[in-house]
Amino acid sequence: MSARLPFARPTLDEATVAAVASVIRSAWITSGPNVAQFEADLSGYLGGRTVRTMTSGTAALELALLAAGIGPGDEVIVPAMSFAASANVVLRVGARPVFVDVELASRNIDVTKIEAAITRKTRAIMPVHFAGLPVDMDRVLALCAHHKLRLVEDAAHAIGTLWRGKRIGSFGDLTCFSFHPNKNMTTIEGGAIALANPAECRVIDAERFHGIEKDADGNVDVIRAGGKYNLSDISAVIGIRQLAQLDGFSARRRQLADIYFERFGDRPPGVLPARGDEGHCWNMFTLLLPFKRLGMSRVGFIKAMSNHNIALGIHYPCIPALSAYRHLGFDPALFPNASRVGEETVTLPLFPTMADDDVHRVCDAIGQVLGDRA
Ligand SMILES: *Cc1c(COP(=O)(O)O)cnc(C)c1O
Repeated sequence: MSARLPFARPTLDEATVAAVASVIRSAWITSGPNVAQFEADLSGYLGGRTVRTMTSGTAALELALLAAGIGPGDEVIVPAMSFAASANVVLRVGARPVFVDVELASRNIDVTKIEAAITRKTRAIMPVHFAGLPVDMDRVLALCAHHKLRLVEDAAHAIGTLWRGKRIGSFGDLTCFSFHPNKNMTTIEGGAIALANPAECRVIDAERFHGIEKDADGNVDVIRAGGKYNLSDISAVIGIRQLAQLDGFSARRRQLADIYFERFGDRPPGVLPARGDEGHCWNMFTLLLPFKRLGMSRVGFIKAMSNHNIALGIHYPCIPALSAYRHLGFDPALFPNASRVGEETVTLPLFPTMADDDVHRVCDAIGQVLGDRA
């Protein structure tokens, strides 16, 4: 039988392994020259925006909210279907997430429903560019301008995504990226914020490293009770090499997504993802399968695919359906699309080193597993 196919796999070449070894031998392994270089490279990639790196995408979101001054008494608008981190960070800074349903095809926040969720307490909108498909940035930016709200983009899936030809993170307000191994580029663990207002780096720099600030003479002070979220030079050197290859990775992902669309044709077994344009960076390919109608459980389907040596993911449950959110009184029934995605979604294998034939293998296996049901 063919080798096991994961749903995601990072692409790390031997030159990257050698670069990591050379950083280790240099004896400067924590934040240093490679972090400075990686931030400069990211800034160059994002049209000159100020960029700060940190230990995760989750840390990036949390520090972005702190930089925007969001805290107790504030509300932040979040899509009801995303990774839990998108809403967890709002609670962690003491604010309240206000969920808005997603669209079925794009899996993105339904921008037509945002306005109804805005109250006097709303301080920010936090859209997620799900799987790398950008939300309608023109509409979201217009809503923010009209209601005087901050825009904190969860761009964990969207490094390399273009909105109308412009890179996500090269415009907007506060854009947060993740470099977890399942994202389009990795630093093992890591994240970054691109900011419109460089003055807000003061909070981010302090929150990321113990609140420490140094004056011109090198005198150290602590200006707030900061955290500890600085990236290591080992991670940064991986990021430098990944960023140089990123557009190539995204192009290959797009080709593979196109093969999925060709194979599913106009009679797919479920709801395909929205196709977007050539700016979609295709971090994931998710399919909604109507398990109730098919007379099969999702667990059963995933096990059957696993017997074909194909691993699937689930991205993501409806956030208000998760225990921590139910306990706070959130009700998933108010978000029918997010609930449906949460119950029906499966993530098919998609990563740059996959062969065209691997896509055919996945589609053949789906056909066999669903058989006459589909
Ligand atoms: C991965 C992810 C995050 C968190 O990123 P980490 O680097 O794993 O902390 C946040 N939001 C979304 C949508 C993600 O997929």
